[in-house]
Formats: sequence, C-alpha cells, structure tokens
Amino acid sequence: MKKITIIGGGPAGYAAALYANNFDLEVTLVESDVLGGTCLNRGCIPAKYWLHVAELNHEISTSENYGINIEGKSIDWNKTALKRIEIVEKLVSGIKLLLKSKDVNVIEGWGSIENKNSVLVKKLDGTTEKIESDYIILATGSKPRNLPNIEPDENFIVTSDSALNWEEPPKKVCIVGAGAIGCEFASLLNDLGSEATVVEMAKEILPGLDKRTSGELRKQLSKRGVDFKLNSSIKAIEGNTVNFSDGEKKGYDCVLIAVGRAPLTENIGLENVNISLENGFINVDLDTFQTSEENIFALGDIVNNTPQLAHAAFAEAISSVTYIALGEKKPLDYNAIPYVVYTRPELAEVGLNAEKAKSEDIEVEQAQHSFAGVGRAMITEQNQGLVKVYAQKEGPIVGASVCGPSAGEMIHEIMYMVGWEALPEEAAEFIHAHPTLSEAVGESLLGLTGKGLH
Ligand SMILES: Cc1cc2nc3c(=O)[nH]c(=O)nc-3n(C[C@H](O)[C@H](O)[C@H](O)COP(=O)(O)OP(=O)(O)OC[C@H]3O[C@@H](n4cnc5c(N)ncnc54)[C@H](O)[C@@H]3O)c2cc1C
Repeated sequence: MKKITIIGGGPAGYAAALYANNFDLEVTLVESDVLGGTCLNRGCIPAKYWLHVAELNHEISTSENYGINIEGKSIDWNKTALKRIEIVEKLVSGIKLLLKSKDVNVIEGWGSIENKNSVLVKKLDGTTEKIESDYIILATGSKPRNLPNIEPDENFIVTSDSALNWEEPPKKVCIVGAGAIGCEFASLLNDLGSEATVVEMAKEILPGLDKRTSGELRKQLSKRGVDFKLNSSIKAIEGNTVNFSDGEKKGYDCVLIAVGRAPLTENIGLENVNISLENGFINVDLDTFQTSEENIFALGDIVNNTPQLAHAAFAEAISSVTYIALGEKKPLDYNAIPYVVYTRPELAEVGLNAEKAKSEDIEVEQAQHSFAGVGRAMITEQNQGLVKVYAQKEGPIVGASVCGPSAGEMIHEIMYMVGWEALPEEAAEFIHAHPTLSEAVGESLLGLTGKGLH
C-alpha cells in the first residue's frame, strides 16, 4: 500500500486525505492549528456568515417598503458571535469525523520535510515524530499579506483574521485593498451601519475582473455610502489618522489591510529538497501538481499562478490524488472555475471577460441583459446590475460576468457552457423558468444570437 503524508489540513489537505480513501492509499495528515484551515476558520465561512447577518439586517431595515413594520429592532452582538462560532465548530467537527471515518491518521503539530520521503512533526507537547512515506503533499496555505512599513497589531490595524472575530463591527473603517475580501467587508460593514472607506491603487475595484460589472458593483456600493478612493494608496498611519496619497487625512476606528494573501512556504523544510519556488509560491506541473521533486506535490493557496480559492483547492486535491493512485493525469480547466464575490449584490465571473480576451488576442462577441426589467429582481428590490456573456467570434461561449442578486448561484449554468464549449445558439434554445433571476442569463444568450426578446 502506498503511503502519503499531507502537511496542512485546510481545503487542499483535507480534501486530498478524504479522496485518497477511494484508493489503496495510507494517509497521514499533519495540522498545526485547527482542521479546516483558512476557509473554515478565518475565511470563506466566517466571512459569509458576517455577510448573511449584514444582509438580514438590511432586509429587516427595508421591510417597511413591503408594509411590514418592525419596531424596536436591535442586534445582540454576543449572540451573533456565538452563532458564528457554533457554525464553524460544527463544520470543523464534521471534517474531523469524516477524516476518522476514512481512516486518516491525523497528527497535531508542525510538519516539515526532512528529506523527500520523510516529514518531521513537532507536536504541541514538544515531542517530535518522524513519518516516512512514498509521497508528500504540501498544502500549507496562506496568510494575509502585509504592506511595507505597516505592521498589523490586530487591534487598530487588523487583517481579515482578526476582523472576522470582531464581536461588534467598528463604526468607521478604512479598508486597504478592493479585492474580493476588501469589497466583501465594505458591503457588510455598510449594511451593519458602519462607515467604510476603501482605498485601492488600481483604477477600478476587483482588478482583473470585468470592468463593466465591477464598475456596476462600485456604483451600487457608492450609492449606499461606501467611499471609494481609486488610484490611491495610504502613505502613513499616525495614531488613528490615515494619510492618503491624495493628501487627505482622516480619522478611523480601525484600518483593515486586505491586500492579498502570501503563501506559507517558510519553515517547512523546502531547503532539504529540490523544490522550485517563485516569489514564495511553489511551481508545479499543472497536469499532476507534482513539484520539481517528483514524489512531492503541492496544492491550494501555495501553488504558483493558480487562483487562491477553496473550490480550486478541492479540485487540485482530486487531480493529484488520482495521479498518485492511478498514474492518470486529470488537469483542471481553470478557465471554467467560477469566481464569486459575495457582496450585496454579488459579482460572479467565469472564463474570459473583455479585458482578458483582449490580452489573449481572442476576438469575442458580447451581449448583456440588465436586471432592471426582470420581474423576480423587481419583487426583491434588487433589479440593478446585469449579466454579460461572451462568445468567441463565430464560436463557443467563453465567459460571463454577472453583477446582481444571487450572481454566485447563476454563474454555474454559464460555467457548464464555458466548460463544454456550448455554442450561443445551442445554449439559447433552453428555456428558463419564469419568474426567475436566471431569465437574465437566457435573455443574454438570446442577445448573443442577435435575437433578444425583451
Ligand atoms: C476572508 C477570506 C474569505 C475567503 N472567502 C473565500 C470564498 O468565499 N470562497 C473561496 O473559494 N475562497 C475563499 N477564501 C480563500 C480560501 O480560504 C483559501 O483559498 C483556501 O482556504 C485555501 O486552502 P488551502 O488548503 O490551500 O490553505 P489553508 O486553508 O490556508 O489551510 C492550510 C492549513 O495548513 C496548516 N499548516 C500550515 N503550515 C503547516 C505546517 N508546517 N504543519 C502543519 N500544518 C500547517 C494551517 O494551519 C492551515 O490549517 C477566503 C479567504 C479569506 C482570508
């Protein structure tokens, strides 16, 4: 029986451990903190919990538009925090149980490579254990990236790690970085009644995503009161005052640094083997996830040039374990992996957008449909935003970007079209239920064929 040692029990590591149970493989998983990694403990789940609480607060605050008067609304922040902790704990114990049921040997401690077949674990009680195996999978994840000269104290200057543990959100927050994490915090803080300024060096929020839909999201958040400073940066923080590059100085209760995530590839013994790195990220063969040391694999946030997403990590785990077990290559179609920003409204994208198509020299045709006249969106007062769909000129559908209600769910139907290279006229033949938000996708597809209905 082949033996695998996995370092890191986040989405990449625990998914690899679970999937290995489908084959004749013996697995040891080393985790230094809490199983579930960033995603369950400091990322996806607590962030989406906060966003849900914020959206609920917004819904209740606007219920009188529907004749539902709620008097004396208040928030018990203690209870809000307890529910978040309860959900995270349930998910973590679910992972523990799953790993146990699949005979994964979980060891608590810090793992580092001793040589290409051996991992040394420094356990929490100070003892060490050596694990010998045929294969090693590195899945050590990432940590918040810092700005030069601005060291988070996790009190006034914070990262998402501690912000997600806020008992009560600060009243006035400066968010540095308008990527997915920065925008999600801006949206939830705004819905919970806090003031948010978002400072971003690029010309538009969510750099890399479709400019039209990102601009739409920015306009909607601005209308709600989020203050965006684009083409800007922070020069210094003096006491509670932030000095911006445009000369403005403003006081805040908190500064949240959200400028990306750095790979956790230090102190894991990479110097003891021959593994190629680029800016701290591990280079892999994307067909197998093998590093330059052929029996050592790397997955998830530490992999160079791949998206830092939990669902990408799950898929990479399946692909690499299949290769280890069967020798079969199962490369992922990264182009068909959806990217979702869980703001209100959501922004979701898959495949190419106008800017990416241009940079790759691919000629595309596009069609869009606004939610303005979509009945279901009007009912919920969410009829702003749009669906944009792209097809290669005289070819298949190659991408889409949606800014609007439930965009993160809707994007999945276009994911299949991109993955299966559906032609616009084929996809447009299918009929969407009425009244649904997805009708906007149907209308965009009709638009792509040049025969829009509404
Ligand atoms: C605020 C926030 C929101 C996010 N929201 C989303 C979202 O909505 N959707 C999405 O897809 N992604 C989201 N992400 C990203 C997602 O969390 C990551 O892409 C995902 O967790 C990466 O999984 P991973 O297994 O590679 O790493 P991690 O989840 O970081 O797990 C790595 C694990 O390895 C352990 N470890 C590290 N070094 C060692 C060692 N030497 N020995 C033993 N153990 C070690 C760590 O303790 C950790 O548990 C979000 C991230 C953040 C910060």
